[in-house]
Amino acid sequence: MSRTVPLERIHNIGIMAHIDAGKTTTTERILYYTGRTYRLGEVHEGTAVMDWMPQEQERGITITSAATVCEWRDHRIQMIDTPGHVDFTMEVERSLRVLDGAVGLFCAVGGVEPQSETVWRQAEKYGVPRIAFINKMDRVGADFLRVVADIRDRLAARPLVLQLPWGSEENFQGIVDLVRWETRIYDEDALGSTFRLGPVPPEMEQEASEHRDTLLEALADLDEGIMEDYLAGETLPAERLIPVIRRATVTSHGVPVLCGSAFKNKGVQALLDAVVDFMPSPLDVPPVQGEKVKTGEAEIRTPDDETPFSGLVFKVMTDPYMGQLSFCRVYSGIVRSGESVSNVGRGRNERVGRLLRMHANQREEIDEARTGDIVAFLGLKHTATGDTLAASNAPLLLESIDFPEPVISVAVEPKTKSDEEKLAKSLVKLGAEDPSFRIQTDAETGQTIMSGMGELHLEVLVDRLLREFQVEANVSKPRVSYRETIRQRGQARERFVRQTGGRGQYGDVELSVEPLGQGSGIEFEWAIVGGAIPKEYASSVEKGVREAAETGVLAGYPLVDLKVTILDGSYHDVDSSELAFSVAGSMSFQAAVKKAGLVILEPLMKLEVVVPEEYLGDVMGEVTARRGKILGMSQRAGAHVVSALAPLAEMFGYATDLRSATQGRAHYTMQVAGYEEVPAQVAEEIIHQTGGLGSREALVT
Ligand code: GDP
Repeated sequence: MSRTVPLERIHNIGIMAHIDAGKTTTTERILYYTGRTYRLGEVHEGTAVMDWMPQEQERGITITSAATVCEWRDHRIQMIDTPGHVDFTMEVERSLRVLDGAVGLFCAVGGVEPQSETVWRQAEKYGVPRIAFINKMDRVGADFLRVVADIRDRLAARPLVLQLPWGSEENFQGIVDLVRWETRIYDEDALGSTFRLGPVPPEMEQEASEHRDTLLEALADLDEGIMEDYLAGETLPAERLIPVIRRATVTSHGVPVLCGSAFKNKGVQALLDAVVDFMPSPLDVPPVQGEKVKTGEAEIRTPDDETPFSGLVFKVMTDPYMGQLSFCRVYSGIVRSGESVSNVGRGRNERVGRLLRMHANQREEIDEARTGDIVAFLGLKHTATGDTLAASNAPLLLESIDFPEPVISVAVEPKTKSDEEKLAKSLVKLGAEDPSFRIQTDAETGQTIMSGMGELHLEVLVDRLLREFQVEANVSKPRVSYRETIRQRGQARERFVRQTGGRGQYGDVELSVEPLGQGSGIEFEWAIVGGAIPKEYASSVEKGVREAAETGVLAGYPLVDLKVTILDGSYHDVDSSELAFSVAGSMSFQAAVKKAGLVILEPLMKLEVVVPEEYLGDVMGEVTARRGKILGMSQRAGAHVVSALAPLAEMFGYATDLRSATQGRAHYTMQVAGYEEVPAQVAEEIIHQTGGLGSREALVT
């Protein structure tokens, strides 16, 4: 078999937008015009093709990152769904990792809204080339040029205006194309799928030629040939301009700006033309870099079918009918169904079962995937989101997607025995899909604890569990994952002795505990000399210590970052047992840490709030009121950026409060920065909440 679509005609793109800007509608129109869906589903009816999870339809937000393929002018466009919600920045990051270009979608009325700013900056961080589509030109208050100014001023981008709207609001009837010097007049009756080309309307000639001049001047700056012809007053045809606009876009020197109304079916075909004309192919972006497994040496794989296969799994999702789908971007080589490939990070081989190309509402089974493709693997057993797959004889480890430690959790209690089984199975599936989410069992209560990255993150997961997987369960309120640690050295000796007629119990352990640096966990050292306790009991003592550490001493949170040294003890020939030493280990550990200055640690978040001048004071006051510390302030694209550290426990409901305090004009990102000791008063409260479970006397104040 040979390649069906040349690599230079493949475009992996995402559509980034503020919620409500019209991303779903636009995507859906794209799929309609490219001929893959046969019915226009309106978003407000909840039938759009891309949003397939019920939660998304209800909340009207796109959470998962599915990929959809369509064809336009003999090019293959692979659309990677990019969520617009701030709580899912990790989802945005992972889609940005695998796409080569993005369409920034803006509302002609709302302009550059806070969340579009956030994703725009994330795209900047990854150097993703962008084009802008100003949607909703039909709405009252639509103002194309104001949004263009916003793009320049608030996003600090260099807009290349390629189109002007002809008419606005209810009179929006078409688009003046400044590159081809013609007008597209849309046919209302045919759902806008047909349009007529006409000359630039006389009443717009003046304005249009001014904008064309601005465009030509910008292009002349980038290309000498254009410069000469422009100065000589020659007419420059579209064929001359398109390659230069493309170069400007691909190198992020400019952002082509288009307009339309997805809802009224205007401008979407021109947007597709722009994707094909200006968005990069895998050949236009730097080749992927990874490291050799054995040596850790950097290695580059050029995007070429002839190089060995490598790909990044950027999304795993469970499909109720097909099972587990692993979405993979192929960076190099070819992968065939039936073949065995290496999951490089996990050091195991995976057999490639079936390969699927995902269209809007149909899945096409294919025999092979080639460089640049985005496909779904069906039947991978050991692969999770972020994993690298590569040819077994040429393994290469791509940089994984960063998944931070979860900091917030809920307890889930299944209602019946059969729900318990369903819960276990469903959690395994959810875990493979989303590595930022963890599952544990609470040793004391036997409850299942689900942990995640934020309030909304957990909310969505719980919702899926109850609805999609139909587990009946009680779910607790979210709580912060605190930890406990010690500040000084402590030492203790405890004996566990039971005499009950027959064989008794005897264990006697002396140990010390010392603080270690953050992130060290628990170190264990057996320092017994001369056989005070036989070595065979070492693992029992360690087990007792670790169990005690897991349940904590102050408030039931795990004790971390300390070293335990077993110093001395004694044993009894008959009565000593593994159990007795495990209990004695636990007892002396608890006694030792109580002498070692216990404290409670809380997750500390690094907060970044982007806020317009007029709300700066309010935002800073709010951060301080939440026990936050302001680290600094800077200016970015006309807004203030406040960086701060604040405890997660105080950040519940922040999204809502910030929105109402600033009328939605400020936005924030938050990520875990580490752990910090809670103030004594807060520690008292935490211990109190656990119902006196802990020993308050042990708390250092
Ligand atoms: P998303 O949140 O970005 O995916 O936005 P949707 O596509 O769900 O659109 C949000 C709302 O705006 C829906 O009610 C759409 O019908 C409406 N909408 C989308 N595009 C347009 C448009 O071009 N004009 C108008 N008037 N409404 C639009």
